[in-house]
Amino acid sequence: MMRIGIAGGGLMGRLMALWCGQQGWEVSVREAGPPDPANMTDRAAAFTSAGMLSPAAEMEAGGPRVYEMGLRSLALWPGIHRACGARFDLRLSGSLLISHPTDRSSADRILRHIQPSAEHAPQPLSHEELARMEPALKPRLCGWLLPHEGHLFPIEALAALRDSTPADWAFDCPVTRVAPGALESSRGLEQFDWVFDCRGLGGRGQDMPLRGVRGEIFTLRPASGSPPIGRPIRLLHPRWRVYLVPRPDGHLVVGATEIESEDRSAPSVQSCLELLSAAFSVVPSLAEARIVSSDINLRPALPDNLPVIQTQPGLTRINGLFRHGWLLAPALMEDAGRAMACSPA
Ligand SMILES: Cc1cc2nc3c(=O)[nH]c(=O)nc-3n(C[C@H](O)[C@H](O)[C@H](O)COP(=O)(O)OP(=O)(O)OC[C@H]3O[C@@H](n4cnc5c(N)ncnc54)[C@H](O)[C@@H]3O)c2cc1C
Repeated sequence: MMRIGIAGGGLMGRLMALWCGQQGWEVSVREAGPPDPANMTDRAAAFTSAGMLSPAAEMEAGGPRVYEMGLRSLALWPGIHRACGARFDLRLSGSLLISHPTDRSSADRILRHIQPSAEHAPQPLSHEELARMEPALKPRLCGWLLPHEGHLFPIEALAALRDSTPADWAFDCPVTRVAPGALESSRGLEQFDWVFDCRGLGGRGQDMPLRGVRGEIFTLRPASGSPPIGRPIRLLHPRWRVYLVPRPDGHLVVGATEIESEDRSAPSVQSCLELLSAAFSVVPSLAEARIVSSDINLRPALPDNLPVIQTQPGLTRINGLFRHGWLLAPALMEDAGRAMACSPA
C-alpha cells in the first residue's frame, strides 16, 4: 500500500488527504496549527475565507484558467460533500452581481471582463425579479444572476474533511523539511512513498516565490425580522468591491479587502468603515445588524496570482491558491493526482 505524507492540513492538505484516502492509501498529515484554531491570527487562510464558489464572477480577477478550473471544481464539490456525509453547508443556488444605478457604466466595464460561455453568462434581472429574489436589497438596484455558482461554509467544511478522512493526523506539528519521500517534524524524519507539500504561505521558498495578500472580513448578525439573504451578492463598484455571503445560522459575512501587505494585525478602521458602509448602501437593514466578529488572513499568492502544481518523483507541491482556494482546490486535487500517476515514484 502507498504511504503518503502531507505537509499542511489547511484546505489543500485536507482535500489531498481525502483523495489519497479514497485511493486506499495510508495517509499521514503533519499540520503546524491546532485542530480547531479559533480566532488565531496565523491559522490556515481557509478558516477565514468566505467560501464563495464563483467561477464566472472570479473571471475578472483570475481570467479563463480560473473559470475553467472553477467549473471543474464546482462539478466535484457535490461528490466531496457526499464523501463527508453532507456534514457541511454547500449551496449551489447561484450568486448575484449588483450595482447602484449611478455606477452602471463602471459595472458594465467590470462585466466586460466576465465572459464565460453563453450558458454561464450573467443574466440581467429586472428590478422586480431582483426584489423577489433578495427582498433585503435596496429597491431599484441593477442586478445580474449567475445561476451556476455556489458557496459553502468553510469552517464546517474543514472539520468535515478532517473527520471523514481516516489518516494519521498530527496537529501542532510544524514540518521543518520537505523532501521527495520524506518529511521532518517534531515526529522526527519520516519516510513515505510520496509527499504532498500543501503548506500555503509556509511553503515559501526559492522555487515558490509566494507573498501573502491581506484580507479582512466581518461577520454580522442581522437584526431580528430583517429579510434573510439567500445567496452571495457582490457589489460592482468603482472603488469598493464588497460581497455579502450568508451563513447557515443566519449570520452574514461581509468581505473582503485585498491589500498587498503581510500585516496580520486586527482589521483597520478604514477597512471596517468602507466594507460595512458599502454593504449598508445595498442592504439598508444592516444598519441595525450587530458585528459578531472580524477576522484577517493572508492569501498565499504567486507573482501571476495563479495556482501551481510542481511534481518531481516522490514530491508534489501545490500552492498559490490566492483568493480562489475553495473555488479551485478540487480541480487541483484531481490534477495533482494525475501528475503523480504520470511521474515515477
Ligand atoms: C479574507 C479571505 C476571503 C477568502 N474568500 C475566499 C472565497 O470566497 N472563495 C475562495 O475560493 N477562496 C477564498 N479565499 C482564499 C482561500 O482561503 C485560500 O486560497 C486557501 O485557503 C489556500 O489554501 P491552502 O491550503 O493553500 O492554504 P491554507 O488554507 O492557508 O493552509 C495552509 C496550511 O499549512 C499549514 N502550515 C504552514 N506551514 C507549515 C509547516 N511548516 N508545517 C506544517 N503545516 C504548515 C498552515 O498552518 C495551514 O493550516 C479567501 C481568503 C481570505 C484571506
